Order: sequence, then structure tokens, then C-alpha cells
Amino acid sequence: MTALTTPQDRRDALKEAFLQARSCERCPALAATRTQVVFGAGNADADLLFVGEAPGAKEDEQGVPFVGAAGKLLSELLAEVGIARDDVFIANVLKCRPPQNRNPEPEEIERCSPWLWRQIELIEPIVVITLGNFATKLLRGDAAGISGLHGQVEERVLGTRRVRLMPSYHPAAALYQRSNRELIAADFARIPELLALGPPEQPAAAAAAEPSAEDLAAARAELAADVAASAPAPESAPQDPDAEQLGLF
Ligand code: URA
Repeated sequence: MTALTTPQDRRDALKEAFLQARSCERCPALAATRTQVVFGAGNADADLLFVGEAPGAKEDEQGVPFVGAAGKLLSELLAEVGIARDDVFIANVLKCRPPQNRNPEPEEIERCSPWLWRQIELIEPIVVITLGNFATKLLRGDAAGISGLHGQVEERVLGTRRVRLMPSYHPAAALYQRSNRELIAADFARIPELLALGPPEQPAAAAAAEPSAEDLAAARAELAADVAASAPAPESAPQDPDAEQLGLF
């Protein structure tokens, strides 16, 4: 389990992960076509974490998740339940835009997922909302689809953290079919009550599962080695990363 003692520790650790991720080249096709890595943005101390699919064109351009039409709808839906976007953290399954917004490939998800596990480990959210099929399948670890799961809350151990996880439709689904907006709004209406419950009882560090702390440590070591081997040394990365990309870190 990470020993993060202060909010500043958490922000520093997240910033360090961001600095590593921005030069990630684990998926050569995505690294070659992206404008930049879209790591995630928001409050490093957030109790509420959203996980979407992958950056689109606007996100790739600006380096910030959910800034296009789906993102505007996400902000609107959050405001309707009295939650400010600045108070949450928003991440994606993939940190790079797939060309032509194609679906993430299974091996891309596998290569990118250590960044998401690290974000969950550092942010320590109480509630995680998966938006759409890709995030739902990854974080639930099975192939069940969103239509049978949306709005259903379950406790899940994600890495070292037990959270209240609720799948919902991806906001883009409401852009294509208006009736989906009501379904998402009904799911989101549950969020304040979930946050009010506080964190579920946490697993003992030694008993943490899905994956185990050892698996996570090994994945992080492997990731760090890959990044070091395939990217410019961290010292060469800009030390003052774009404030917008970092959100409220
Ligand atoms: N869709 C996503 O899943 N993520 C984004 O960041 C933008 C659109």
C-alpha cells in the first residue's frame, strides 16, 4: 500500500506518474499518431473518479480528458447532481487517442492499464464511475456489458483500494440517442448518496487482490523499465508541465 501521508504527497506522486506517462511509447501506433498523452485531470484528492474510454480529437489537441461534446454533457450531468467538475478526477482507459477514434485494442488496454491502476492507487477514490463498456469491462474484470450493469453499485477491490463501483453509459451514447441521457442522469443521481456512505472497509495490504500488491509493484517496475528504455530520460522532460493537463493536482 502506498504511504501517502499528505495531500501534497499525493499530488507529487501523481505528477511524477504524469511525467513518466507523457513519454510512454508502449503502444507504438498510438505514440506515433497522438499529439500528446492525455493522462487525466482533476483533483488529486477526489473521492469520485470517472473512467472513460480514450481521448478524442479535442482531448488529444488540448491534453485534457472530456473537453469535447461528450465532456460538456458530463459536466452538465455532474452539475445536475450538485458536483463541480473541479472536485472530481477524470481519467480514461487509454491515455492516447486511437486514430480515427477507433476502439481500443485489447493489447493497448493491457499496456496502458498500469497507468490507471497507479492513478487509482494514488487518488484513493471512494466511488468509481465507469463510463461505457471499455472502462466497465476493464475494472470489473469480466466481459459483462454496460446495458445490464448500469446503475448497479458493487464493492470492488481495484489494486490496493476497495471502492464503490458503479458503471454508467458513456455520455457519447446520449449524444447519439437522447433517451440515454435520462438513463445516465438516473445513475448519476445515486452518486451523492454513495459518496455520503464514505469508503468501504479497506482490505488489509497483505490481502489486497485483483491484482495483488505484488502484481502491481511488478507491473510498475516493468512499466518504469519500459518507459526508461523507450523514452527520453525523465530529466529531459519539462519540469513545469502544462497546468491545464494537471488540473488541480
Ligand atoms: N471520450 C472518452 O471516453 N474520453 C475522453 O476523454 C473524451 C471522450
